[in-house]
Order: sequence, then C-alpha cells, then structure tokens
Amino acid sequence: MAKFHSTADPYIVSRVRALESLLMEKGLLEPGMVDAVVARFENDTGPMLGARLVARAWLDPEFKRQLVTDATPCLEAFGLNGYDLLVILENTPDVHNLVVCTLCSCYPWQVLGLPPTWYKSPPYRSRAVLEPRALLAEMGLIVPEAKEIRVWDSSAELRYMVLPERPAGTAGWSEEQLAALITRDPLIGVALVPTPAGAGPA
Ligand code: FE
Repeated sequence: MAKFHSTADPYIVSRVRALESLLMEKGLLEPGMVDAVVARFENDTGPMLGARLVARAWLDPEFKRQLVTDATPCLEAFGLNGYDLLVILENTPDVHNLVVCTLCSCYPWQVLGLPPTWYKSPPYRSRAVLEPRALLAEMGLIVPEAKEIRVWDSSAELRYMVLPERPAGTAGWSEEQLAALITRDPLIGVALVPTPAGAGPA
C-alpha cells in the first residue's frame, strides 16, 4: 500500500487496495511498484526540482529570461525531457499568479511532485476563479487590493508553475540556500516564499 494513501478517505483506500490487488493478480503491477512511483515524485523530483529552478532563476537573469519565455531548455538542463508543456508565471510587485485546474487536478508533477489534496478539492477549484483574493486570505496569504491576481487554469496539455518573488534578507545566498527556502505552496501561488528569520534587508 502506497504511503500517501494512508491519510486518504477510508473508502478510497479500500478501492485503491482492491485495484492494486487486481492488477497484481493479472500480472500488470509488480508489488512495490506504486510505492516506487510515489517515492520518485516525492523524493527524486517533487517540489525540490521546482525550488531549484526558482533559485537558479533568482540568481541568473539569463536563466530566468529563458525560463519565463520557454521553459523547455531549462527543464532539459535539469534532466527533464518529454514532459507536458510547462509555463512559468513570474510574480512581480504588481501581479500575483495563482494556479488551479478547474476541470479536475492537472498539476506539474515533474517539478512539484504529488498534488496536495486541497488542490483537487471542488471548493479550491471553484473559489480560485470566483473569489481568489478571499480564498488566498483564508489560506493565509493577504494579497493587497492594489495587486492584480491572475488565475491560470491548467489542462492536460498545459501546466503552470509560479516563479515567486525573491524574499528580502537573502542577498549573497547560494543556489542551495535559496532552494532550501522554497516550498511547494509558493510555486502554486497560495503562499509567498518567507523572509528568513532574523534577516536584514536584501
Ligand atoms: Fe485537470
């Protein structure tokens, strides 16, 4: 049983277990295969890869220009080939970007790993479009009225990742230090990358 199923709805857990058993009986699935796939997205790629892309973009203006223009060469530089089209949305002092899939749960697995449960929930999917400012406030992110919120609807062919603003207090930081500060939520657009504790101005 894959570990990410352990916190799911008991009905879904039972269905998944039944499906796994059936597929193994038919010889279509090796024991441990689901766990291996989950581990790959959680550990080997996952938010870590998105964080590394952002950290490099913060440090390298030419990489950032390429990333927001056509991300494919940047993804290839990180060993990612042949994935769905990924568009990088740059946050600015005037614009905050928010990613949703209103139809289902399309999500850039290759750079963010497994989607969080709330991303797939009907309230998130509808409110991100109807009242993004109120939704973000409830999720702990107050976006000033003067700042525009742009909502991007993902599809099976086109996925999005947010390039958040670099926080103050990180001047002189290395790519590794910056990447360690970046978690999944800012890359979906539901949080900001935090200013490090005790940091001075950037
Ligand atoms: Fe979808």
